[in-house]
Amino acid sequence: MKKLPSKPSLFLFLLLCLSVSSSSFTQIIFQKPLSPRNASYDMDVKLNTETKTIDGFETLHWKNLSNDFISELRFHLYLNAFKNTKSTFMKESGGQLRGINIDESETNSWGWTDVLSMKIQNGEDLTNKIKFIHPDDDNADDQTVISVPLSKSIKPGETVNIDIKFKSKLPKIFARTGFADNFFLVGQWFPKIGVYEFPGIRYATKGEWNCHQFHANSEFYADFGVYNVKITLPQKYIVGAVGIQTGEKKNSDGTKTLTFHAEDVIDFAWTASPIFKIAEATWKHVKIKVLLQPEHFSQAERHTQSAIYALEYFSEHVGKYPYPNLTIVDPPLRGLGAAGMEYPTFITAGCLWGMPEGIRFTEDVVIHEFGHNYFMGMLASNEFEEAFLDEGFNTYMECRIMDHYYGKNTSFFNLAGYHFGDLQSQRNSYVGMNDPKIAEDYRPAWGYQDGGYGSITYSKTATWMTTLDRLVGRNTMDEIMKTYFDRWSFKHPCAKNFIDIVNEIVKKKYGNKFGDNMNWFFDEVLYGSDICDYKLANISVKNVTPPIGVYDSAGTKLFYRYHSNKGKDIYHSKVSVYRLGEVIMPVDILVHFDNGKDTLATWNGKDRTFDLEFTKPEKVVWAKVDPENKILMDVNLNNNSFTTEPPGSPARKYVTKFIFWVENLMTSISMIF
Ligand SMILES: [Zn+2]
Repeated sequence: MKKLPSKPSLFLFLLLCLSVSSSSFTQIIFQKPLSPRNASYDMDVKLNTETKTIDGFETLHWKNLSNDFISELRFHLYLNAFKNTKSTFMKESGGQLRGINIDESETNSWGWTDVLSMKIQNGEDLTNKIKFIHPDDDNADDQTVISVPLSKSIKPGETVNIDIKFKSKLPKIFARTGFADNFFLVGQWFPKIGVYEFPGIRYATKGEWNCHQFHANSEFYADFGVYNVKITLPQKYIVGAVGIQTGEKKNSDGTKTLTFHAEDVIDFAWTASPIFKIAEATWKHVKIKVLLQPEHFSQAERHTQSAIYALEYFSEHVGKYPYPNLTIVDPPLRGLGAAGMEYPTFITAGCLWGMPEGIRFTEDVVIHEFGHNYFMGMLASNEFEEAFLDEGFNTYMECRIMDHYYGKNTSFFNLAGYHFGDLQSQRNSYVGMNDPKIAEDYRPAWGYQDGGYGSITYSKTATWMTTLDRLVGRNTMDEIMKTYFDRWSFKHPCAKNFIDIVNEIVKKKYGNKFGDNMNWFFDEVLYGSDICDYKLANISVKNVTPPIGVYDSAGTKLFYRYHSNKGKDIYHSKVSVYRLGEVIMPVDILVHFDNGKDTLATWNGKDRTFDLEFTKPEKVVWAKVDPENKILMDVNLNNNSFTTEPPGSPARKYVTKFIFWVENLMTSISMIF
């Protein structure tokens, strides 16, 4: 067992020497195990670049971590989602994902995986026992999950080694995987064991397989392992993959065999193209490699610099990036269906030739996909069932990073006098929805048949995470995120695990300031679907100056003396705030008087209406609910303030509208990434 050396370049050299001298799979342990490593794969695969097929052999080393005797195994065959129009994925998606359609006209467009044989080493041949199952729906035609019954149960703590021969046909790039001409992005491509959840993992009360069918909108869920992968393909191809390359051997038939090694990862994906141009950079212990389309080479630094920002920010605010490298793939225009995707240590970005610096798609996508290394890769939450824990939390961090390095009003778009920030854009994507109440955030990824997956899972989550951040303060939020990562990485946390940490840390910092716990917050923003909208409804000001002088009253003359505020009138000002949404948040109300002074009041936000009343020589001029903009969840910020002063120039209204239109347009364009 080796410790992680401080000089990665020397270390990579040593690894290369080791693997070249070894003819069999090289088991190189370069760091202490960070994860249980209970689903490890040794693979030997060959890519046929003409037929777009992979002939594969894998040995899965699977350890039963539970106390159960397990008599069935379940595997994902994700590529079968692209086999025909009867798969659950195709039925749900209608054959399109992120605005890109599958090309139904060619046989070559479709993809699939066949398991040719499956055998436990020194044990049972399982090949003829494999059957397709559909645990999520009654679609008998879906072939994305197989069940394999075992004659002999796997005992608690036992490891089985299973040899699997398979053939995969890659689809024409669609839904993150496949080929475009001679570019390959090989993802979700091999028979992959599901997660056996047992008490202690997420909500499990008894041991059972969590192995969902491949759905539109849904991503993945897998256990951790060590991967040793040999890839054989024509010599002219340049390859990038999860992990580090540990060997290269030229074969006499014009092919070469590359070896890759990865530890404590949940997946393995790779890319190949004969025309990649390579850019490299280093940040601390991390080697960054960008595989670019030649015409994008001038944008290499945008990729490396944004990756460095993400590495730096995550390391400081969430936790250490433990891997020695990061590979970034820039897909060709025809392969944009593979852009913006994440695998451990290996991400795909997306850029266009000549993209002006002020349009930061590339930076945004690099930072976003990098962040998945934390939420998808190391925390490895269940993306099928709790996608917001990955996409939403990651979008929240992406906004923080983008706004930190590129300016909160300019981070996403800054061109020709128009500008807006990433967080602003994410919030718009939520509040700009036709019906933001269409779904609550907490539902399986395939539960958004009526829409809203992107705007809720990504944008609404980022919006409520920012609201939480602003309510409890940045330092407390950082402590929450660090604790969550520290306590739960490599363990598959669920929403409840996160909420428990929020409750614990908020209680420690604030006692009962926010109530007994923060469950109310999550009930509203995560489990509920209603909206938050506080409105500063009205300000009324009445002169209530007591009378002075002599007045007749029932035959007598009454004399009213000068009151204490001699020469000054007294006013009764009433500030009215409405709660128009069902979501309840504590809110501040800032009241400004005509002597230039302010008063800040706090309201628990619970009743439908709330009045603040003042009787004093000063008149209220304007008031604002949530003046620090903590409650980003508030869907209408335009009704948050009210002034008794005459309205300003109407032009401002149109400017705001125009910017909103531009923002929505840009958000739509960005969806293809
Ligand atoms: Zn994402």
